[in-house]
Amino acid sequence: MHTLPSRTVMERAYLQSDVTYDGVFYLGVRTTGIFCKPSCGARKPLPKNVEFFATTREALFAGYRPCKRCAPMSTAGTPPAWVADLLTLVDRAPDARVRDGDIRTRGIDPARARRYFQKNYGMTFQAYSRGRRLGKAFEQIRLGKRLDDVTLGHGYESHSGFREAFTKTFGNPPGRAHRSACLLVTWIESPLGPLIAGATQDHLVLLEFTDRRMLDAQFMTLRRAFKRPIVPGTNAILRQLTDELALYFRGKLKKFTVPLAYPGSPFQQKVWDELRRIPYGTTISYEELADHAGTPHAQRAAGSANGKNRLAIVIPCHRVVNKNGKLGGYGGGLWRKQRLLEIEQGL
Ligand SMILES: [Zn+2]
Repeated sequence: MHTLPSRTVMERAYLQSDVTYDGVFYLGVRTTGIFCKPSCGARKPLPKNVEFFATTREALFAGYRPCKRCAPMSTAGTPPAWVADLLTLVDRAPDARVRDGDIRTRGIDPARARRYFQKNYGMTFQAYSRGRRLGKAFEQIRLGKRLDDVTLGHGYESHSGFREAFTKTFGNPPGRAHRSACLLVTWIESPLGPLIAGATQDHLVLLEFTDRRMLDAQFMTLRRAFKRPIVPGTNAILRQLTDELALYFRGKLKKFTVPLAYPGSPFQQKVWDELRRIPYGTTISYEELADHAGTPHAQRAAGSANGKNRLAIVIPCHRVVNKNGKLGGYGGGLWRKQRLLEIEQGL
């Protein structure tokens, strides 16, 4: 699950429009910002302009929009008319937030939409809509371009439209503010899907999987806490993180040394400090976490602080599991929690 065939195999598959690979992987075309099924009949992009994804969800949260021609959101046949209606709704205004009320006014039961999307696309309709909304801003970061470098003809309606999408997600970019006075965000590919990382000149302040539900709220907290403009870019902190992550995913790094800053309430900070003390390759229960934080009866509160951790992996909230041995929750998805624990166990 969520693993891809080799790049050679995928390149051959899409160049030959091999229909047997539909649903196995999706390809994003960097030059157009569109993602396709392997069997798409459109003109084949050059392999160097292509990146591959295991799920439509990953492609969306990497900033790609579904191809109109091969309709990659419909691998399981043509979707029912009401689903097509919802997809069109988001297509027309990807920047808008679609609420349950908007769905209901179209005569569609939001619960039914949630179930259909979950079953067929592996994400709720809200997640799809969020992916499309954040996608534009994320693409900017993924391409590593500064806002001022964005030009027409890159698959966006206009420069200002792009800036608007970015602003909606990250707040107002600076005019000529010095980059050292900004919070820089960058894109990091990982075997578990793309991550977004943010840092000041001195500290790492954000590391999250891009499809995480809480991400919107995390950006807002960061804007409030640091009172700095957020702009795409990289610096020494982010480069150090990228290097350390690469080693971590290969099972070759047990302790991150990149400097961290994680403002929060005193209780949250206590919990996050405790998380950092859990040794690599081990787990503790939510009860033990509450205990370590000096509040033995506050396991629910400890669990909630755990879930608000903004520094995935480096503050190892994935090392907290249920007492009964079950994995418990994870903001980045349970399959990722499982994989992280497996990596640390050398599996
Ligand atoms: Zn296509």
